[in-house]
Amino acid sequence: MIITEQKPFGEIIDSLKDYKRIFLVGCGECATTCKTGGKEELERLRQELERQGKVVTATVIPDAPCIASQVKSELAKNMNSLRQADAILVMACGLGVQSVRENNRIALAVLPGCNSLFGSTLDSQGNFCEKCSLCGECILAETAGICPVTLCSKGLLNGPCGGANKGKCEVDPEKDCAWVMIYKELQAKDRLGQLRKIQQPKDHKKTIKPRKILAANNQA
Ligand code: SF4
Ligand code: SF4
Repeated sequence: MIITEQKPFGEIIDSLKDYKRIFLVGCGECATTCKTGGKEELERLRQELERQGKVVTATVIPDAPCIASQVKSELAKNMNSLRQADAILVMACGLGVQSVRENNRIALAVLPGCNSLFGSTLDSQGNFCEKCSLCGECILAETAGICPVTLCSKGLLNGPCGGANKGKCEVDPEKDCAWVMIYKELQAKDRLGQLRKIQQPKDHKKTIKPRKILAANNQA
């Protein structure tokens, strides 16, 4: 999931200074889980905006605004409120904001209400933990399912830097050294021999942006 934080309210109000009537879009998936774009957050924001003299023409929460079909259908159902608005404020990640911009047929200004932080798991204690940097060449099979690209502060692919102290990272002593974790996990599985395999440098061509995978019927 994509982790977001709400922008400071002052920043949101500043971005809306040229617009009076606001159409609010949330997100029923990641931003609801992050408590940035769910029902309660949108209601709170609506009240704050109205206290600042804005008019909220409608509040909608597509399941996943990053999916064109879902955002299109939610906007179509609320076309009257959309026509009354001067701008759309999206409480979701940058994917959601851009998807709303692309699928907003009446070309209103579309503004972000959140900052997008990272891709994450949600653990059983409710913590959001970054685990994958989307490198395009997954090596988890070699590293006992622990990602050194993301969890090692230096992104090392072939073992530790040598600076770990009592299992903690030299860059951030609060953090477990990824390579100590990988070593222990491989040792427990009796697979330490895997460490002899040299990982080749990452092919950074695979992370040239923007990346795209075309639908089968759009491929030449
Ligand atoms: S190696 Fe790490 S960053 Fe790359 S795809 Fe696998 S989990 Fe993601
Ligand atoms: S101490 Fe461990 S996690 Fe930290 S930079 Fe060195 S190898 Fe990476």
